[in-house]
Amino acid sequence: MPSMPTLYPSIPRHLKAIDTLIKQEASLWPGTAQTIDIIAVSKQQPVEKILAAIDAGHKIFGENRVQEASLKWPSIKKNHNGITLHLIGPLQTNKVKEALMLFDTIETVDRPELAEQIAKHMPRLSARDQLTCHSFFIQVNVGGEPQKSGILPHQADDFIKFCKALQLPITGLMCIPPQNEAPAPYFALLATLAKRHHLPFLSMGMSHDYKIAVSLGATHVRIGTAIFGERMDSGAREKGLGTRD
Ligand SMILES: *Cc1c(COP(=O)(O)O)cnc(C)c1O
Repeated sequence: MPSMPTLYPSIPRHLKAIDTLIKQEASLWPGTAQTIDIIAVSKQQPVEKILAAIDAGHKIFGENRVQEASLKWPSIKKNHNGITLHLIGPLQTNKVKEALMLFDTIETVDRPELAEQIAKHMPRLSARDQLTCHSFFIQVNVGGEPQKSGILPHQADDFIKFCKALQLPITGLMCIPPQNEAPAPYFALLATLAKRHHLPFLSMGMSHDYKIAVSLGATHVRIGTAIFGERMDSGAREKGLGTRD
């Protein structure tokens, strides 16, 4: 058998550099998280690049669409132990069951109907030993933007209580602040909400703003292009979700 060439040497390099920057940033500020998980956002990235990250020892990944994730991840998870997959995009109620059997954390619980569907399916899947998802974050639309999903900040207190009453294991909050605005006040708002409800995890910060998020207490940063390079879909760039590598 011919030996495999080492593809994408930039990926382990990027992961290491980002990890170093995160640790440096965290050391500068009081109250930052003890451990900060890098969620490698692999949406619209080829499986070869994901495998390059796994070969480098990375274990935590994020996808934003159930359908795309269900094509890529079942076989990767089967062949590699200890992988954790986060759903970071909007979840339709008709895909809840599938998502609960594929992801380990759903970060985008954002409305009562979705919370109810999750609460309905969890015990059934658990009884059949098919449940993979044991942790949920609530997405907060910190900028109150109509085009973004997430519960509005003024409804967040009630919604968090609603989810807890449904016995959902809510462990954190997630946000995507408005583009073209300084993200710090939005990250700080998310941190305040989490603290008020004793939620340990804060998923905030992407390729262009993760250092600021870390300084404000992020426990999870979601980083795509700074690890993997440009995504295959050019539309992502127009939406402002892409940055140069
Ligand atoms: C795509 C995406 C990211 C990663 O964005 P990059 O700019 O590539 O780091 C993070 N969070 C969410 C919710 C995303 O959809």
